[in-house]
Amino acid sequence: MRFLTICLLAALTGLFTTSCKRLEAKLDRLARLAGITTPGEEVAKKKAEPVLTPEQQALEAKVLNSAVFEAAKPEEVAPKATAFELNKSSVVAILGYHDFKERGGSPMVIAASKFAEQMKAIKESGIPVIPLSDVLEWRKGRKNIPEEAIVITMDDGWEGVYTHAYPVLKEHGFPFTIYLYKKYVNIGGRSLSWEQIREMMKHGCEVGSHSVSHESLRNKRGRTDADQQLWLLGELKDSKEFLEKNLGIACTSFAYPFGIFDDSTMELAMQLGYETLVTVNNQKVTWDSPMGKLGRYIIHGESDTNFKLATSFRGRGDVASNHFLTASAKDEQGNLLVELSPAPEELVKDRQPTIQAKLARLGTILPETLKMRVGGMGTVPANYDPASMSVTYRLPYRLRREDCAVTLSFKRAADQPDEVVSWRFKVDLAAAYAPAKLP
Ligand SMILES: [Zn+2]
Repeated sequence: MRFLTICLLAALTGLFTTSCKRLEAKLDRLARLAGITTPGEEVAKKKAEPVLTPEQQALEAKVLNSAVFEAAKPEEVAPKATAFELNKSSVVAILGYHDFKERGGSPMVIAASKFAEQMKAIKESGIPVIPLSDVLEWRKGRKNIPEEAIVITMDDGWEGVYTHAYPVLKEHGFPFTIYLYKKYVNIGGRSLSWEQIREMMKHGCEVGSHSVSHESLRNKRGRTDADQQLWLLGELKDSKEFLEKNLGIACTSFAYPFGIFDDSTMELAMQLGYETLVTVNNQKVTWDSPMGKLGRYIIHGESDTNFKLATSFRGRGDVASNHFLTASAKDEQGNLLVELSPAPEELVKDRQPTIQAKLARLGTILPETLKMRVGGMGTVPANYDPASMSVTYRLPYRLRREDCAVTLSFKRAADQPDEVVSWRFKVDLAAAYAPAKLP
């Protein structure tokens, strides 16, 4: 039937080409409606195609063949490039410490035991500690970081970093960054030695610059503008090269001495190759934070205020309060206090899993205070079943990230503060591409 129509149209077109343009147009229209290519169109198509050399033709044939072959093959393996979705909702708290001593506590010196307590509280909160370089990778769009994360930094290069802080950080597997100034590296006394620095670098320590002299970068000391510019260049550039040469690293982070800087200093530093620059302004780092002035909380030895501010995320209590329930907390019989599904750190193959928390072992909770947050989605409408005391939420779409963070908060009684359980599970993005099993 189709063949006949083509023949008929072709014959008609042939007959009337010279005489009747209107009829030709009408036939074309009819043919298009019927889904048929008219001879006129065929000619136009052929003309539009470029003439290929024999080599090009051979190559094209090869490409076409393999394309057909690929298309016919069932999709058995995950595509090489897994769908990567950047999570721009992450929030990072950068903590800044200075010196550590056995006892005591002043704004710039913290007692070793207090530091150990703080690190334990972070560990138990389940909020991951990440290296500063991960924040940079995230901001460059190359990788995701957890929904909420902590970065630990220490300024000035005191030996106390090695003797008191480093053993604790190493025990927890926490990465950290030390900011050193050229005039106080490996000079004896209470300064860190190259040997100590190199040893720490083998266990998660990154090194950034803290200038040459540790003077405020806005201090002119009677220098002319030209001299000031030269001096500034030295403070930024010499200190960078000094660390790079001695440690064999790329030094891309800078901590402003006393947190003091201005925009022109920041621009100069970035021109010289610094990519992350930290201040002391008690602000968390988000997707929108300028890399030339990343917020940081200086943790004082004699006051917990800044540690509390730094470790409370999105209005939740800080990690040092007793309201953080560890996902691994158990009752007297050794049963998990809250049963979580997917379990913490579990690798799930279902990209659209149901998230569930069974709270029966907690005794009572106030259902109206329940709030579940899912990384990248914010607060979600989870269901609560009072009979089993379980909170359930089925994800509305398939996860496209390899990591999913969940936070559940609730009150046990009206006069009690919020309690928080947070955990993460991993998604096997590759497995989700495997063909479904045949019945
Ligand atoms: Zn300093």
